[in-house]
Amino acid sequence: MDATAIARGAPPKERIELGLTGMTCAACAARIEKVLNRVPGVQAAVNFATETAVVGFDPARSAPEQLIAAVARAGYGATVREDPELDRKRDKARKAAEFAALKREFIIAALLTAPLLAQMVPMFTSGGFTGAAHADLLPRWLQLALATPVQFWVGRRFYVGAWHALRGGGANMDVLVALGTSMAYAFSAVVTLLELHDQHVYFEASAAIITLVFLGKLLEARAKAGTSAALEGLLRLQPKTAHLLRDGTGVDVPLGEVVAGDRFVVRAGESVPVDGIVREGTSTVDESMLTGESRAVDKAASAVVYAGTLNQDGLLTCEATGVGSGTLLAGIVRLVAEAQGSKAPIQRLADRVSGIFVPVVVVIAVVTLALTWWLLGDATRALVHAVAVLVIACPCALGLATPTAVMVGTGRGAQTGILIRNAAALELAGRLQTLIVDKTGTLTEGRPAVTEVIAIDGATRDDVLRAAASLEQGSTHPLAKAVLVAAGEQGITPFAITDFASVPGKGVAARDGADSAPMALGSLAYLTEVGVPIPDAMVTSKLRGSTLVGVARGGRMLGLIALADAVRPTSAEAVRRLNAAGIEVVMLTGDNAETAQAVADAVGIREFRSGVLPAGKAEAVVALKSKGVVTGMVGDGINDAPALAAADVSFAIGAGSDIAVEASDVTLIRSDLNAVVDAILLSRATLAKIRQNLFFAFAYNVLGIPLAAAGLLSPVIAGAAMAASSVSVVGNALLLRRWRPGA
Ligand code: ADP
Ligand code: MG
Repeated sequence: MDATAIARGAPPKERIELGLTGMTCAACAARIEKVLNRVPGVQAAVNFATETAVVGFDPARSAPEQLIAAVARAGYGATVREDPELDRKRDKARKAAEFAALKREFIIAALLTAPLLAQMVPMFTSGGFTGAAHADLLPRWLQLALATPVQFWVGRRFYVGAWHALRGGGANMDVLVALGTSMAYAFSAVVTLLELHDQHVYFEASAAIITLVFLGKLLEARAKAGTSAALEGLLRLQPKTAHLLRDGTGVDVPLGEVVAGDRFVVRAGESVPVDGIVREGTSTVDESMLTGESRAVDKAASAVVYAGTLNQDGLLTCEATGVGSGTLLAGIVRLVAEAQGSKAPIQRLADRVSGIFVPVVVVIAVVTLALTWWLLGDATRALVHAVAVLVIACPCALGLATPTAVMVGTGRGAQTGILIRNAAALELAGRLQTLIVDKTGTLTEGRPAVTEVIAIDGATRDDVLRAAASLEQGSTHPLAKAVLVAAGEQGITPFAITDFASVPGKGVAARDGADSAPMALGSLAYLTEVGVPIPDAMVTSKLRGSTLVGVARGGRMLGLIALADAVRPTSAEAVRRLNAAGIEVVMLTGDNAETAQAVADAVGIREFRSGVLPAGKAEAVVALKSKGVVTGMVGDGINDAPALAAADVSFAIGAGSDIAVEASDVTLIRSDLNAVVDAILLSRATLAKIRQNLFFAFAYNVLGIPLAAAGLLSPVIAGAAMAASSVSVVGNALLLRRWRPGA
């Protein structure tokens, strides 16, 4: 049920994905979900569009075999999916075979139905065929001969599907089609065999409905294949072989045999086979297929290259770092496949309706039959109306409305470097009202550099830098990196430390490995807090606006390091776009007030708070959420984890190859706040499509069923409308493929 909880891995359970067969409509999906959830300790979400179920289960209480057995008892097939690539290939082959069979049977059905329908043409032009008795153009025995194979050979799928569903205690679209067409066929057959010449026959209706529903299934299958095109496109990016350098000579080996540490070459115009680090050569590489950024990236020694990206002009010799499922590309594919199989909360209503849809329609049909017969005293017309009700009702459109839009939206995102973890995140991102942004690494480059080192009281600048570098060895903070780089440039080697402790949002503390002297480093507020006096007048006006890190030893200040982090040139544009989209932007930073003010001014943010600890950021998020504001948080994840976890939607930008470990709801591969704006706009577009689709699907059934009951739609038209309805829902979702990122 709760796809979000499963995707977030919240319950301490195991998860598997099941591939499902035999589903014909959303009612089947609802049915399977119900039987799976009845197994003890199981939480399942079935996706009709991808024909998969994501199942969280407790291995102590149930096993995968039990899950498969439960699905089988309900009349459907299930297999555990383990190897996404192999499963996808198998699925594709199976679907292609199914499609071919479907097409063949459709053609036969159409050929048999055509003469039956052709005789109706004069009647359409002269006032409809529920009217006065007419003379058949074709002899009735011939009509019976044409309609029978359509009903029982082509239509056997509906009987089989209906039987499975009913035996499992549920009802699906097949039940409606089988029931509706059987009624029309059986009535006509009896009339023909008993030679009741004053009665109509409706062979053309039963045959045409089956043919049209078939046509609808064909078109739907084709369109559904289009919804996973983005994912398949990603899978095709990687070349099949890599040119390895082994013992000084070149050999071409299949990708599966490449191991980390292998040297490989990428020639101009070729795609990078696996993730790696450039060792020799320079080139420009097109990474747009992963990042969405159209500008090609220069690569030289020690640059990172990603599988699937396109080497444009130079020759690169690289060392493999990520192979197989360890590449960024594989991570993206995994994430997208998972997102596409997840369920949006907005779908819940449609699911509930699908679950009871068929029985309700059958009841409406029976009531229609009884009422029409009683009111008009005409059994034949009553029958025609009831058949129309059964065949116009379409639970498929309800079931397809949300998942197809989610598939196209998340797939389109993946093509532009926007990875949305699941449909629930997509829905929340689409409804986002306030976005909290972290300063470092979000608005700024996240690559601070040391601009000044100030020593006091007899310490030298080298002493300050050496102490700082020693303390920062154990930290992953961007400021730590900057300090280590600066020390390295000065040829300073850090000394050993003990008792290292990192204090998020404040700094770090440790002891000198040699004499156990306590040492601390961090914001001036932090040093004051740990009892280090800050000499007056040390913070000169020249330093205002820089990030300041104090270094202390033995309770005394050694000196001060000033760092600056350039504001990203694209941040101001992104803030402007967010405001234009009606989203409040609030900056929260652990840095000092002057730096915060300078950055806020540079990017056009009006609301900000400085000196905020990680826990304070989380509190701010919670406070906004408790006011009912849908709140997002963008951060680097290093010490913003509590706030990211508290937010309705968390965004991580510039994830690069860390995507596998990234736990955010939306991961942006590009290091640019504009990618967050694009993610929000894409989510909005997808949500709009979902709403349109749901509205259409509900409206279609709500209007169609009464019209059919009133006898205003002939069964043939009803069959055509039902076929068209699900096709149009999928087609509407496919329009999302045209979505483009804004900047
Ligand atoms: P931001 O909100 O900009 O990401 P942080 O919460 O990461 O800032 O850090 C806030 C402040 O704490 C920094 O400006 C710095 O003064 C200090 N600080 C925290 N961790 C470290 C560290 N490892 N090295 C140096 N300073 C640190
Ligand atoms: Mg930070």
